[in-house]
Amino acid sequence: MAQTRLLDNHGRPISYLRLAVTDRCNLRCFYCMPEEGIRYLPKKELLTFEEIERLVRLLASMGISKVRLTGGEPFVRTDLMQLIRAITHIEGIQDVHLTTNGILTGQHVPELKALGIATVNLSMDTLDRERFKMITRRDEFEKTKATLQLFIDHGIPVKINSVVMDGKNIEDILPLVSLTKEQDISVRFIEEMPFNGEGSHYPVLQWTYKRIVEHIRQAYPSLQKIADPTHSTAYHYHIPGHKGNIGVIAAFSRTFCGSCNRIRITAQGVLKTCLYDDGVLNIKELMRSGMNDQELKQYLLKAFLHRPKDGFEAEHNRKTHVVSESMSTIGG
Ligand code: SAM
Ligand code: SF4
Repeated sequence: MAQTRLLDNHGRPISYLRLAVTDRCNLRCFYCMPEEGIRYLPKKELLTFEEIERLVRLLASMGISKVRLTGGEPFVRTDLMQLIRAITHIEGIQDVHLTTNGILTGQHVPELKALGIATVNLSMDTLDRERFKMITRRDEFEKTKATLQLFIDHGIPVKINSVVMDGKNIEDILPLVSLTKEQDISVRFIEEMPFNGEGSHYPVLQWTYKRIVEHIRQAYPSLQKIADPTHSTAYHYHIPGHKGNIGVIAAFSRTFCGSCNRIRITAQGVLKTCLYDDGVLNIKELMRSGMNDQELKQYLLKAFLHRPKDGFEAEHNRKTHVVSESMSTIGG
């Protein structure tokens, strides 16, 4: 079936859905949620697997070809593999991706490979067990590390996500970069954003994407800028002689909005057409009111034609103005 091209009001194609299957998590990364956790949604407030499948099928018919399942930690949702199996078989969905902290993921790696999962993003802010414990407030580093090895052994393309945090993991930047020497993996450094469930943030972000790149360049003067894939949010780099590559994501500086092709559905079934908006359409309510696919499609199209031009406009348009929700509900 020829794929429909779905465009927003700024002429940007929309082809990528990031869907948070839960807001629950088995870690408490301090940049994502407070130590005591967030107030989790009652289970009935989460989209059911049937609702997710229906929604993905509808969005695929409208032009979405790439789906990322995220959360919270996707694998704390019972029977997640059942959903992955279903989504990989939806007509029009070409790539299914996953973002995970790796703790409950290891046992599923062979099936993920068999299902043809496109890439996995694995959150690993540090290679040091003690710092991992300090950042995530749980002593689970060994499981994440073992899962990384399993992905590599099974030939699943893996990207390590590391949020760069002033005073917390700066000493990890170069060891993480050095992983790309022997392994064909991508290590991506992400600017810290204020989505920590508390709304607190630095008056000025210390570790901007530019500073991260300069820090790496000082240790590796041969660092080369390489081409960025279309719609990528990362600036890509390569060190000659290394097998893998490096990405730096200006998540707070928001330099990539001009080519943004993504929409998000939060754990509570709300559509976000920008990471920085506070939700533009409650899809779950519409579905549960008995709306048919044609009607639902009209609501979705209307939302896609009112996208803010960038994350700054989206933040300005928020009802509360302050970005304070946890990334765990949004889906990263
Ligand atoms: N639990 C899974 C994990 O950690 O990979 C998936 C969900 S997590 C919310 C998705 C991504 O968002 C992770 O890579 C995490 O590092 C990133 N993230 C969470 N809070 C963030 C923040 N305040 N700033 C930047 N990235 C953040
Ligand atoms: Fe959990 Fe991922 Fe948030 Fe860490 S970043 S608390 S692993 S949802």
